[in-house]
Amino acid sequence: MVLALRESEPAAAGDPAGRAQEPVRPVPGHLSPSSAVLFEQCPRRWRFRYLDRLPDPPGQAALVGTFVHRILERLLGEEPAARTLDRARAIAAEEWPAHHQQDDVVALGLDGDGIRRYKWQVWQAVHGLWQLEDPAAVDVVATEQRLDVPLGAVPFLGVLDRVESTTEGVVVSDYKSGRAPAAAYVADKLDQVLLYAAAWSAGGGAQPKRARLLYLGARSIEVEVTPGRMDEAVGRLHQRWDALNSCVRDERFDPRTGPLCAWCPFAAQCPEGSREIRRRLDAGLVPAHAPAVSAVA
Ligand code: SF4
Repeated sequence: MVLALRESEPAAAGDPAGRAQEPVRPVPGHLSPSSAVLFEQCPRRWRFRYLDRLPDPPGQAALVGTFVHRILERLLGEEPAARTLDRARAIAAEEWPAHHQQDDVVALGLDGDGIRRYKWQVWQAVHGLWQLEDPAAVDVVATEQRLDVPLGAVPFLGVLDRVESTTEGVVVSDYKSGRAPAAAYVADKLDQVLLYAAAWSAGGGAQPKRARLLYLGARSIEVEVTPGRMDEAVGRLHQRWDALNSCVRDERFDPRTGPLCAWCPFAAQCPEGSREIRRRLDAGLVPAHAPAVSAVA
């Protein structure tokens, strides 16, 4: 049955006086693994970044990671025999001038020593690939693959670093230039590659047999991909998506204070986080050089 509005009825539903309702903030169009992780960390911080869009410039670690990804993307685009350390070094040299001039890199204000340290970090990560595998032996199917597909009711968006073909089937991999996680956090980290595997399949690709986190220079953390594991990861993503939508609907983003507040770029706008940082400072639990300390001192 279709109910038509009479001409005299106000268009703004739910308000007897016909006043326009407060506009509700739009729900984000996508959910990426990094956005989901940030929401889990602290809903308030997620709001500052993804809804209020306050400036959140990437730090040096993130910029190094981006540069490493670019070098490895190009390297794996070469013919297998050309994927050598010398070629990686040449690609890094070719890419450096443009990377170095990016606003976020300039904003780091690196001096000569700082630039040398930055380049050293990049090279440690690139070189670290050879500690995990022989890049010449990788049968590349795709690199830097944008995945924009619904996973159940969640509009998933992510960039998958690498898809390769192996004798056992398709393998999806995500490069990591940071430190490998402690055992307690491994399952959480593997969720990300399981979601990539699910999104790759949902987008029409063959279901991966394995998903890997390649912690460059350290170790590879892997999981066999099964429909059950992918479903569980998608289920957890659903829970976060539902929770996130509730927060947006209710305009309620509770702070989740903890050690990470001292590294939060929005600490100065967050009274609870500021208090937490001062408490930890007094207790000697936060290094004085943590980035948010000066913002709340
Ligand atoms: S300071 Fe802490 S509680 Fe506040 S937004 Fe940042 S992480 Fe969340």
